[in-house]
Amino acid sequence: MSKVTKQIFVGNVAVGGGAPISIQSMTNTDTSNAESTLAQVMELANTGADIVRISVPNEKAIRGFETVVKKSPVPLVADIHYDQGMGVLSADAGAACVRINPGNIGSEAGIAKIVDACKANKCPIRIGINAGSLEQDLLNKYGEPCADAMVVSAINQIKMLENHNFYEIKLSLKSSNTLMTIEAYEKIAKLIEYPLHVGITEAGTMRAGSVKNAIGIGHLLLQGIGDTIRVSLSEDPVEEVKVGWDILKALKLRSRGLDIISCPTCARRGIDIIAVANELERRCTDITKPIRVAVMGCIVNGKGEVADSDIGLIGIDLNTGKSDIYIGGKKSHSISNSNAVLELEKMIRKHIDNS
Ligand code: SF4
Repeated sequence: MSKVTKQIFVGNVAVGGGAPISIQSMTNTDTSNAESTLAQVMELANTGADIVRISVPNEKAIRGFETVVKKSPVPLVADIHYDQGMGVLSADAGAACVRINPGNIGSEAGIAKIVDACKANKCPIRIGINAGSLEQDLLNKYGEPCADAMVVSAINQIKMLENHNFYEIKLSLKSSNTLMTIEAYEKIAKLIEYPLHVGITEAGTMRAGSVKNAIGIGHLLLQGIGDTIRVSLSEDPVEEVKVGWDILKALKLRSRGLDIISCPTCARRGIDIIAVANELERRCTDITKPIRVAVMGCIVNGKGEVADSDIGLIGIDLNTGKSDIYIGGKKSHSISNSNAVLELEKMIRKHIDNS
């Protein structure tokens, strides 16, 4: 069962308080180039990002951010480091949330100015703790980045915002160390009721990073810890959104588009499942309505999987090059393996149009 957290709103997206787990990513364009930044925001939104974060490092970036905010289909979070003035300007420019990093954001007087701007613009603040940029006094005390140091940093920053009567807060405590991240979130979840943004930061490249995020985010969400997620990858940010969706789909927390059940194949396969499943996934990325599709190499496990699917395929024999198609678990017709991808896509789109 999910831990009950306070609900805040990032633009029109509810975070916490039992709202659906939202998916975030971050642009990597030059923010001062509003055209390319907006194009990436649109691409992320079309892939299923609920919220997008944009780095706002300087005044040129503020001007780009302001332009993108006006046209963005999803709420935008301004990512602020070092320069408190950028936090103020971002809130005034229409940020749906301002992210600050306690390790580098500077004096309380400057933070108070960000708080005032966020209050005036009804804009929440994300306190984004990162093990790689903890305050020096905490590093001195704990000797190295650790979960306890991250928790203390978070509590200190929350108190500072609360002292200024600011409570529209969400929080992240990220590390590239999956186990340290899990420990930090488990500890902070016992201490506060603010919504948590969870993810493994600097997780690495596509394969290893996806595994780290799936383990970290999955472990936390299964305990009911986490209200919004960001998968961090050294990849096109669109892949972060896709992996985020795959994590939520695997946990049955949200559904979107194709859920492909496909076997790893073996000598019994009656069709090249690896090629069919991957090509089908590539061709159907635009589909958002949930649909379960089983693509199976033979009858051994195929029979059970198609019975539980909206559309199914079971390979019959590589030599004859035939497969059987199933609709709603019932055998419909046989097709030539060479037509498998197009036939499945046609049937998937027809099923979605009729549902
Ligand atoms: Fe092999 Fe058939 Fe299982 Fe696929 S479903 S892995 S082809 S036994």
